[in-house]
Amino acid sequence: MIEGAIAKGLQYVALTDHYDLDMLSFPQVPQIDLPRHFEELAILKEQYRDKIQVGIGIECGWAKDVQDDYARNLAPYEIDMTINSVHLIDGKDCYAEGYYDELSLQKCYDDYLDSVIASLDAPYHYDSIGHLGYIMRKAPYPDPIMQYGIFGDKLDLILRTIIDKGVSLEVNTHTKSLPIRCLPTIEILTRYRELGGELLTFGSDAHQPTRLADKYNETVQRLQSLGYRYIFKYLSHEPIAHKI
Ligand SMILES: [Zn+2]
Repeated sequence: MIEGAIAKGLQYVALTDHYDLDMLSFPQVPQIDLPRHFEELAILKEQYRDKIQVGIGIECGWAKDVQDDYARNLAPYEIDMTINSVHLIDGKDCYAEGYYDELSLQKCYDDYLDSVIASLDAPYHYDSIGHLGYIMRKAPYPDPIMQYGIFGDKLDLILRTIIDKGVSLEVNTHTKSLPIRCLPTIEILTRYRELGGELLTFGSDAHQPTRLADKYNETVQRLQSLGYRYIFKYLSHEPIAHKI
């Protein structure tokens, strides 16, 4: 991934492997070896320092019953950037077969947003809210886009809390087959700016080197047109502005 980022001319890349303790019952998701992850990244950060800045990162899959474990387990490590994400809703994986069966869009998205709201109180130090609107990625509804007109109250609560807490909203370009170019939607990014939101991180959610920085230029242009002036990288949990 680091070599791929250098090949693409990036100056910074944060490697934020999944840490999903709540997915222990899902054997298809292998658990990260946490000490080894941080140890190796610290070595690579040093090894590549003349070529690219490597952010030591992690993505926590929030769940209420494991949030204290995250806090305890992450405490010993020097981390540049932690993404806080919701992948499971009430313990159920929305990527799993049958998840959406007999769930209306309204109920499904309400449940997801309630989980995101609860995740904002996580007891560990997180920097960015991952892929807001993730529930849309696999949703089978004819029009899966999460409309602000319907979910505005919950979305506003999320955006205002993000702003109050001084954490970033991630702009994630891994949209699978959705008819949109990033998560959250432009509508939600517009609202975040209206509310005074400034802190944004860019995430390609690459999973493989070929998708690193995917749609970066077009995303930056879109953000500029919405009035954003910066995207932020994180070092030691500190946001560092990058002018766009
Ligand atoms: Zn994620």
